[in-house]
Amino acid sequence: MIDCYGFRNAESPDFENIEGYFVDKEVLPFYNKLKERLAGEGYALRLESAYRPFERQLSIWNRKASGELKLLDASGNPMERPADEEQLMYAILTWSALPGASRHHLGSDLDVVDGNACPEGYEVQLTPAECNGMFAPFHKKLTELMDADETFGFSRVFVPGRGKIQPEMWHIAHLPTSRKRLENFSLAELRSIYERTDIACKSALLDNLERLADDYIYPYFI
Ligand SMILES: [Zn+2]
Repeated sequence: MIDCYGFRNAESPDFENIEGYFVDKEVLPFYNKLKERLAGEGYALRLESAYRPFERQLSIWNRKASGELKLLDASGNPMERPADEEQLMYAILTWSALPGASRHHLGSDLDVVDGNACPEGYEVQLTPAECNGMFAPFHKKLTELMDADETFGFSRVFVPGRGKIQPEMWHIAHLPTSRKRLENFSLAELRSIYERTDIACKSALLDNLERLADDYIYPYFI
């Protein structure tokens, strides 16, 4: 198990399993407060993802590169798989983080929805269409609370105008915790991990790593 944030894995005593996902224990009291605050407004804050280890992000990356998982363009529509390795890498990056540099390695970042707005048996996709549809009232309320500084340290990270990752309304981070974890990030370590890992688009990743960091990693160190 490897990642660039201090080599923590799901068995780390820093994590606790809630709602089926591992979350940094430091985040838990704030998550519970936010949940309670939203419950008071009629929304059921629910996790769809939290901590993900390097291996999981690597598997997503490699399966998108091989065509096993579908590639989506910036609008969320399925797209052709580019033959050129660099183009393929950028296509994957539209919706998938660099393995080893995903904020989901931190344990402080959560993908959330409103459980009350989910139709019975509905499988959540985490797409902009859902945020503008069934989860729109939930996100509107969350934005209001964030603007009023009433979200106990949680903020959105992937917002328009920041870096090159598509906006993700559903992705929230407990910033006081993530800032501490990000201190352990090292681009040199990430390069060395890629060199010794069976990762798709390896040469494109290694050739462009500094630029990738400037566009897809550092803008989100907030
Ligand atoms: Zn996320």
